[in-house]
Amino acid sequence: MDKIALFPGSFDPFTIGHESIVKRALPLFDKIIIAIGYNTKKMGYFPLEQRVDWIQKVFLEEAKVEVEVFEGLTVDFCLKKNARYILRGLRTSADFEYERMIGQMNRTMHPEIESVFFLTQPEHTHVASTVVRDIIMHGGDASMFLPKEIKITRKR
Ligand code: ADP
Repeated sequence: MDKIALFPGSFDPFTIGHESIVKRALPLFDKIIIAIGYNTKKMGYFPLEQRVDWIQKVFLEEAKVEVEVFEGLTVDFCLKKNARYILRGLRTSADFEYERMIGQMNRTMHPEIESVFFLTQPEHTHVASTVVRDIIMHGGDASMFLPKEIKITRKR
């Protein structure tokens, strides 16, 4: 059976931190589905289609990566996609506490789905989509935090 991992997130936008997690996880799985979770009450900053398009550009040459959009529970989307692993990244102890709670609750609901955590590379510990968004909103240059395929500019 193929080993399929789901990497869920808002990816608003996808950063070098996310890119690094996916690239490091690729040797472990047959397929990684980068799944953009959305909530009709909280639409996010960048349009969903734009986020999908950016991530597809980053992994254009990587046949094992797919990009999807989903609404609802991550575990339900895993079942729909036959994914038995949830991939997440850990930057800080705050990330750990949050991920521990979600991971344990998910496992209680679905013991057949395992969460797999990657520690961030030290040079990516400070990289967060929230701050990248702020920089862009205020007309700054966030290119050093974005994969080279993603070019975002906002006029001041
Ligand atoms: P969410 O809203 O689900 O936290 P994000 O898009 O912010 O979505 O993050 C998706 C996943 O990527 C989370 O597991 C998060 O901890 C991880 N992540 C975000 N930024 C980094 C980074 N710089 N290094 C490693 N992992 C990261």
